[in-house]
Amino acid sequence: MSHHSQTHETMQSRRSFFSKMAVAAAAPSLLVSRAFSAEETKAVKLTTDDPVAKALGYSEDTATVDPKKYPQHKAEQRCDGCALYTGKNGEKDGPCTAFQNKIVTAHGWCSAFAAKPPAAPAIN
Ligand code: SF4
Repeated sequence: MSHHSQTHETMQSRRSFFSKMAVAAAAPSLLVSRAFSAEETKAVKLTTDDPVAKALGYSEDTATVDPKKYPQHKAEQRCDGCALYTGKNGEKDGPCTAFQNKIVTAHGWCSAFAAKPPAAPAIN
């Protein structure tokens, strides 16, 4: 009888030890996922001095892109016509998937520009 209850106690403390461990292990990932969702709701603007923005030649205004540096650039190319832009039509800026969904200006441009595919015909 006493032996049984001792075993039971050991099992319980072991169980609580493991559940504490599980909480400790889960805590950092909880913090990370919270930071991530905060970043999603509180949109981060892409700045032109961001190293990745610099590397891709991001400009907040497609009209100012240097044609010598980026001969592939065309005047009509802009973020809101790019497949990597997920902003809404008509908004002044929106997230770009090439920059971890940081906010780029609708009339911006970078060398990763890829024209949006033509809109699919509506299916009724
Ligand atoms: S990838 Fe497209 S949407 Fe993103 S910054 Fe470059 S041109 Fe703009």
